[in-house]
Amino acid sequence: MSESVRDAAAPSAAPRSFATAQVQAGFDSSVAENTAVPSIHQSNGFEFGSLTEARELFALRKDGNIYSRAANPTVLVFERRVAELEGGIGAAGVASGQAAVAVALLALAKQGEHIVAARQLYGGTVDLLQDTFADWGIEVTFVDQDDLAAWEAAVRPTTRALFAESISNPIAQVLDLGAVSAVARRAGVPLVIDNTVATPYLQRAKDFGADIVVHSATKFIGGHGTSLGGVVVDLGTFDFTADAARWPQLTRTYPRVPDGSLVERFGATGSPYIALVKTKYVHDLGPSLSAFNAFQLLQGLETLDLRMQRHTENALAVARFLETHPAVARVHHPGLESSPWHAAAQTYLPRGASSVFAFDVHATGDAEADFRLVEELIARLRVVRLVANIGDARSLVAHPASMTHSHMSPTQLADAHICSTTVRLSIGLEDSRDIVADLARALDPIALDAGLTQPAGSLSR
Ligand SMILES: *Cc1c(COP(=O)(O)O)cnc(C)c1O
Repeated sequence: MSESVRDAAAPSAAPRSFATAQVQAGFDSSVAENTAVPSIHQSNGFEFGSLTEARELFALRKDGNIYSRAANPTVLVFERRVAELEGGIGAAGVASGQAAVAVALLALAKQGEHIVAARQLYGGTVDLLQDTFADWGIEVTFVDQDDLAAWEAAVRPTTRALFAESISNPIAQVLDLGAVSAVARRAGVPLVIDNTVATPYLQRAKDFGADIVVHSATKFIGGHGTSLGGVVVDLGTFDFTADAARWPQLTRTYPRVPDGSLVERFGATGSPYIALVKTKYVHDLGPSLSAFNAFQLLQGLETLDLRMQRHTENALAVARFLETHPAVARVHHPGLESSPWHAAAQTYLPRGASSVFAFDVHATGDAEADFRLVEELIARLRVVRLVANIGDARSLVAHPASMTHSHMSPTQLADAHICSTTVRLSIGLEDSRDIVADLARALDPIALDAGLTQPAGSLSR
């Protein structure tokens, strides 16, 4: 691995490679309990040496632990590690990816202000932005993420952020991050990227112009399907002082810090933006990451590069197999030459396009018959499991039209390239031959029933 990253918590530290950072960053074994791996600090509160110390900590004049809703030593290691892997200057760990998206955007846009977001977003994010944010008077314009003129045209004087996913799901569209970043620059607002599916191993969004990254750590970062978590990372690239009047929450006197603004207090040493996320939004709304889940996510991070290599290789092998199967009408995988996002994947995902993608089975023309067809296909699977999750060590399958995207209108579904027979996969770490054989077993009867011709040898797999 050639690229180097620096410890966000210790800017003077020697640069270290991704693989070293993912097992070491953020943890100092010489501190206090001398454990060789980060401990689970399962404590709500922390004892102060004196009332003077408590006063300093509460005034944010001194860094330290007060209460685990705001900061916890295990969570801190997780935050520093992700910050370093993304090349950021600070991070906030939270209870879920959903919380990460919410607090990241609330810290930028308030009532009467506006966000431009890609239309191709995770369903929970769409609900948050078009329903809950609307209730709170934060307006959101959704645009097709590949339509640069639409991004540009949607920007208003009140716009405070652009938001998109680096790889969307279910059909794995790859964002032209550089182009959207240029729109954000011209608009004078930060570009916030949900990097959940790519992970910092497959894409450092900072290298292409993102300013803030969020993750559902529930997925590939944790990687084992056991623990919900989320994280917001400030990449340190956006200058909130360039147009200070636009960002009063950071540049004006902050009532929770006695002496001045968050930029004055944290501008030189850390991230004023992350301080706002933590001291206001996580503090007030309470979506804190538990020490136990932070510990699980740290264990996941230690093997992130190895797992992403296997996930990516397995998924491409499965996609190539599906492309040859007569029951399959289309495979939506940006690693395939047939994908409209193949060129974007080569630019933005040179190490591979992750393992969440979809394929369409030949449709019958009748929605109910298509549902039965997919239901029977899924029922024949033994290795790949029917679970509404992604980024697990296990291979998982879902049917967007009846599950994750069931509340979408037919137009919304068509816009998202989802049809009644679209099947989403999140390919795991099993032997790819077993996954391919499982899918072959499930798909072959469809090809036989429809009288579709079978390539030689495919049936015997
Ligand atoms: C799952 C997911 C989320 C939400 O994360 P949770 O941890 O489930 O709250 C947000 N964005 C993307 C891209 C996701 O896949």
